[in-house]
This record gives sequence, C-alpha cells and structure tokens, in this order.
Amino acid sequence: MYDAIIVGARCAGSPTAMLLARRGRRILLLERASFASDTLSTHYIHQSGVARLARWGLADRLAETGCPPIRRYRFDVGPFALTGSPPPLEGVDAAYSPRRYVLDALLTDAAAAAGAEVRHGGIVEGLLTDGGRVTGVHGRTAAGRALREQARVVIGADGRNSTVARAAGAAVYDDRGTLTCAYYTYFTGVELDGVELYTRPGRFIGTSPTHDGRIMVIVLWPQAEFPRVRANVERSFEEALAPAPGLAERLRGAHRAEHFRGTRLLPNHFRTAAGPGWALAGDAGHHKDPILALGIGDAFRDADLLADAVDRGLDGDLDGELATYAQRRDEQARPGFESTVEFAALAPPSAEQQALFALLRGDQALTDRFFGTFAGTVAPEELFSAAGAAAGP
Ligand SMILES: Cc1cc2nc3c(=O)[nH]c(=O)nc-3n(C[C@H](O)[C@H](O)[C@H](O)COP(=O)(O)OP(=O)(O)OC[C@H]3O[C@@H](n4cnc5c(N)ncnc54)[C@H](O)[C@@H]3O)c2cc1C
Repeated sequence: MYDAIIVGARCAGSPTAMLLARRGRRILLLERASFASDTLSTHYIHQSGVARLARWGLADRLAETGCPPIRRYRFDVGPFALTGSPPPLEGVDAAYSPRRYVLDALLTDAAAAAGAEVRHGGIVEGLLTDGGRVTGVHGRTAAGRALREQARVVIGADGRNSTVARAAGAAVYDDRGTLTCAYYTYFTGVELDGVELYTRPGRFIGTSPTHDGRIMVIVLWPQAEFPRVRANVERSFEEALAPAPGLAERLRGAHRAEHFRGTRLLPNHFRTAAGPGWALAGDAGHHKDPILALGIGDAFRDADLLADAVDRGLDGDLDGELATYAQRRDEQARPGFESTVEFAALAPPSAEQQALFALLRGDQALTDRFFGTFAGTVAPEELFSAAGAAAGP
C-alpha cells in the first residue's frame, strides 16, 4: 500500500511526487510515456514559476541545462511597443523557456532522487474503489501485464484528457469553451532580446529563446479559423506574421529547424479538484488557453498546495485536507483564468487597456510592473493602484 499513487509525471505529477517523497511518504509515480519525451506544448516559465523551482532547489539545475535566461520583454500592440523587465520575485529575475523533454525529465529525476518509485511505459485505465472511496488504480504495465496498485490517495496529474478525472466522475464547471487554436515551430539564426509578444486583432504571436540556439515561435488564431490554418500552416504563419514586420523580416532570413505542431484542443474550464481518496493537479483539474503561458506555473502551484494537503491529511483528516486543497486551487487559479479568457478573445484593446497603455508609454517603472503582472511578480491590484496614482486625480 502506497501513501499516494500519482498518475502522470510531467509538470504537475513529478513535483507532487518529489515533495511528498521528500517528506518520507511512500509514492508511486506512473507515466505512460517514456522519458525524455516531448509533448505538445511550448514551454515558457514565468519568474513566479522559476521562483518555485528555486524553492525546490531545481532552478540552478534548469539553468545548467543551457537554457538561456530571459529578462527582457517586448509587448507590441501594433502602433507602438512596450519594453522592459519585470521586478524580481524572491531574488529571481529570469524566466526560462526550456524544451519539455528537458524540463519534464529534470522534474521526474528529482522525484526519483527524492525516493518516489517511478514507472514508465505502463498505462492507468481506471480506479479501484471501495464503498465510494478511491483506493488505487488498475491498468497495464509496460510489459503488458495487469497493473493493480493501492494507495491512500490517488492523484490525477494526467493532463487534459485525465483518466483519473473521468473515472472519479470529476464534474466540469465554469466552462468558457475553446477560444483559440495554435501552431508553433523553432528557428535558428535569429537574435531575440528576451521574449517578444505581438497582439493584432484576431492574432497573437509569442517568441522566446530556448535550448540549442533555437527560438520558439507560436501563433494563436480564433478557433473558427482552424480548418483554414491547418490546410496550409506555413502560409497561415507567414500571413499572421506580416503585420509584425520587424519579426517577419528576421524570420525570413532564418532557418526553420523543426516542423509545425499545433492543436485546436484548448478548452477553458475547471474540474472538481478532489473527492474521497482522489485529487487532480495541473491540466487534469483545470485547463486553459496557453496564451498567457500559465499552465506550467499553475501545475507547480498545484503540486505545492496538494503535497501540503496530502502530507497533513495522511496524519489526520485526509478528505478535509483534500477539500481545502480544492478550494484553494480554485481561489488561486481564478485571476489567471479570467485574464486568460479575456486575452484569448483576441479582441482589439478595450478603452481601459488603451488608457493603461497610454500611461505606460511614458513611465518605465510602471511598464516594468505591467510586465510583472505577466511574470507573476506583481499583483494586478498593485499595478492598478500605481497606475491610478500615476494618472493623477
Ligand atoms: C500549444 C500549447 C502551448 C503551451 N504553451 C505553454 C507555455 O508556454 N507555458 C506554460 O506554462 N504552459 C503552456 N502550455 C500548457 C502546458 O502544456 C500545460 O499546462 C502543462 O503541460 C500541464 O502539465 P501537467 O503535468 O498537468 O499535464 P501534462 O503535461 O499533459 O502531463 C500529463 C502526463 O500524464 C500522462 N498520462 C496521461 N494519461 C495517463 C494514463 N492513463 N496513464 C499514465 N500516464 C498518463 C501523459 O503521458 C503525460 O505525460 C501550452 C499548452 C499547449 C497545448
């Protein structure tokens, strides 16, 4: 009998396993994929996420993989661009955009080093239950044999199509539908001074430097355009980049080093995060559009919250602690979710946003705080109160 079985070993599952194993808990971490494998996701981690890695003792290890630190932002809204650097958080001033096959392997290695038992290649097909309580998992091992393991709590960190969520009957709520579709690729031979973001009506373009001298470029379109975009991704990319001529020009002289990857499966919703003997972390419990690049940091946050709750609960009121986790997950995910849904509408800037941009243009300190709200190092209320003071009576 394990203390916890965790299904899925990427941004949510591996840190949860690591944190619980570090507290002496007996953990089984089950992952269908073999590592180091890629997954359909870009990989920008804001300063707030890196600060969490630093607390866990993993930020230096990430830097040592050769991923370039990112300290500068350029936010180009068409008629003008804002540039700056977010204020640091807990001494962390850099974001990173590591390839997922590097990041996820690093996280899983950390879980194994902490003492979690990690098994790759098998698949969890369903949950074991006893009197309405989840007591374990069943499925197939990597060798194709039957898998049956028991634990006091089963954690679904198994992504958007979570088997654990489905088997536990986790309800979907606050479903805002799917707003965008996305494609991304990698180039070599392009210089970027940090991260560059471009908003145009009906388009969002993001770029960041990553491993091996490559830069990642992602474009988001409205969901309804997916069939047209997919029919010719290369041409759609060129068309989307045309209204950002500075970037388009640099990419024309560059080499596209990888094929295009994309998806229209980008729902915005919550799922009930916990029940008797089970809990969800990361995308399994709360999925959102990638436009603000919050998924990885949110998965890290869930890992912290859930590991604390499970650790306390294993020595006391487990279901009570899981219910508190679910409530805190919702409270802490809510502001980023609302901003994501607003940005993912890909609408022209509202009158309020235009007024804010006008203020920011003449005020570098305020602009840096604005970038801090993206980076998770400045609370939005702090920006708005500073902006209110700058605007005057
Ligand atoms: C196009 C795109 C771009 C994105 N860009 C960013 C970005 O720049 N920054 C950012 O922060 N977020 C980004 N995201 C979001 C980010 O990918 C997710 O939020 C993040 O991967 C969530 O991590 P997770 O561990 O919850 O789930 P996942 O990364 O989906 O991992 C789930 C794991 O569970 C395993 N699994 C699933 N089912 C089973 C089973 N039955 N048995 C065993 N194992 C199983 C899977 O193999 C997988 O490895 C992007 C997403 C997309 C689609």
